[in-house]
Amino acid sequence: MEGKVIIISAPSGCGKSTIINAIQERGNVSMEFSVSATNRAPRPGEKDGVNYHFLTTEEFNDLIARNAFVEYEEVYPGRYYGTLRSEVENRCAAGHNVILDIDVRGGVNVSRIFGDKAVSIFIMPPSVEELRRRLEKRGTDSSEVIDQRVGKAEFEISFAPQYDHRVVNDNLEKAIEQTEKIISDFISH
Ligand code: ADP
Ligand code: 5GP
Repeated sequence: MEGKVIIISAPSGCGKSTIINAIQERGNVSMEFSVSATNRAPRPGEKDGVNYHFLTTEEFNDLIARNAFVEYEEVYPGRYYGTLRSEVENRCAAGHNVILDIDVRGGVNVSRIFGDKAVSIFIMPPSVEELRRRLEKRGTDSSEVIDQRVGKAEFEISFAPQYDHRVVNDNLEKAIEQTEKIISDFISH
């Protein structure tokens, strides 16, 4: 049987990575993380091939020319992110479920491409103020980058109604439980 696609989107700092990592560590649902390509620089602690395939802009453009992406977006000015066919198509064909952490435009596109083989989940922040606090506390981005990300949050939240499910990440444990249940229900049907 073909594997399924799980799409997770949220404004930066909402806790997407924390939730995805926690579900993977718990190991109750079988899914593999699709490692995207990007031309942004790695953050401290991020590893090439694990968090992202970190590429130069030239390498990224070369992959676009070779039709290597299911989708790609300029998520922030000059910063490109893309879902590689090699991360999704072969694995699904081999029966593995794949989880994608992608922005709102990419999420809506991938939902259309995969139809009922995909489920989309939007992680909501309790408030935009709390989102800023989390990004400041995470301490991985400059204040300009944080302003840019918070500034974009309202635009991103306007896409939430287009997702199959919405989860508010106020209490982290509850958000993990809810997200895991949505995924396991979808996979088992
Ligand atoms: P994203 O992947 O969406 O950019 P992260 O998973 O990196 O976000 O989370 C951003 C920061 O917020 C991290 O420092 C994380 O530990 C923290 N965080 C995540 N969920 C919660 C929560 N429910 N309450 C408080 N802090 C949280
Ligand atoms: P970050 O720089 O915080 O890791 O990610 C920034 C944004 O890019 C997030 O909204 C994340 O979901 C999105 N993103 C990561 N990979 C992809 C991808 O392959 N395609 C698209 N469209 N967005 C992505």
